[in-house]
Amino acid sequence: MPEYYQTRALVKKTKDAKFGEGTIKRGVTGPDQIEVDIKFCGICHTDVHLANDEISMLLPAVYPIVPGHEMAGIVTKVGENVKNFKVGDRVGMGCIVEACLKCSQCKFGDEQLCQTGYTHTYSAPIQYGQLATDTGVTFGGYSEKISIHEHFAVKIPDSYPMEAAGPIFCSGITMFSPLKRCGATAGGQRVGIIGIGGLGQMGIRLAKAMNCEVTAISTSPNKEAKAREIGADHFVVSTDPDAMKKAAKSLDIILDTAAVDHQAIDYFPLLDANGQLVLIGVTIEPHSIPAGALMFNRQSLSGSLIGSMLETQEVIDFCAKHQIIPDTKLVTGDQVEDVYQALRSKNDSIIRYVLDIEKTFK
Ligand SMILES: [Zn+2]
Ligand SMILES: [Zn+2]
Repeated sequence: MPEYYQTRALVKKTKDAKFGEGTIKRGVTGPDQIEVDIKFCGICHTDVHLANDEISMLLPAVYPIVPGHEMAGIVTKVGENVKNFKVGDRVGMGCIVEACLKCSQCKFGDEQLCQTGYTHTYSAPIQYGQLATDTGVTFGGYSEKISIHEHFAVKIPDSYPMEAAGPIFCSGITMFSPLKRCGATAGGQRVGIIGIGGLGQMGIRLAKAMNCEVTAISTSPNKEAKAREIGADHFVVSTDPDAMKKAAKSLDIILDTAAVDHQAIDYFPLLDANGQLVLIGVTIEPHSIPAGALMFNRQSLSGSLIGSMLETQEVIDFCAKHQIIPDTKLVTGDQVEDVYQALRSKNDSIIRYVLDIEKTFK
């Protein structure tokens, strides 16, 4: 029988309940684990959907639910086998808390592609015993403490503000990983970003810091000022046929973050030969791609989901080096319902809401 300790958390007991302060039980810190006092946890748009069981086709909500996959905290205890962390280290934890660590993908360092599936940070059945809760389902970062296998934590550089780190472990890694895979980290690529919401804004900043030429692509012309302010060199209104024609064959890479139904084929004319379009936004309607459209210009279509642990360390180091710091607004637990309401009504705010854990449980 594993032993547990109690820690306070913001708990939503049922789909219709509101968040309230409660306690949860986590497995005591094991030999491969670090114990972390969580200081800040970003409130992600995914939290809003998952806490209300609106994305059950991807991950069903399991109640009681404690969301949060954008954590930053301080190590307070290390297990006897822990090699990379010591007490007092500033650490971050994101969307993955477990993977088999034995399959070829895990061994290669792509835990997010684990052949038997990684375990999401909350609302997911624990599969590999690398962490524990009394319910057997993961609890996220809206809580005071977590004990986690050291493999799934990264170091937050001293120069980086801890309250802003959380979003890097979600939207940051989600954009960094495909940029790296497509060769943008070497610079000099022409990168297009479709959708200028939270993901898109992060993508523009990262690609610009990689010395790429960045084109922001949006259906709404009123996003132009914001896109240029954060580094976009060009702006294309995708509903304007003339603007699309003018931008023909001007891009090497397109990261498509649009989360409303659309057809990726409409954007392929913007790609030069050998261009790649990566799907990052989850949509319902299937994309229809004629073979010839890809064959004639040797173009490709792929998808990407978060990124590996190594890349997660790379992206926080990269953001520290280039001072890419999300604009954050600190909130406390009693404001969570209001924040969810705000995120529901508008998903393109440049502000990331972050839970101040210490203040919440004072
Ligand atoms: Zn997130
Ligand atoms: Zn694996």
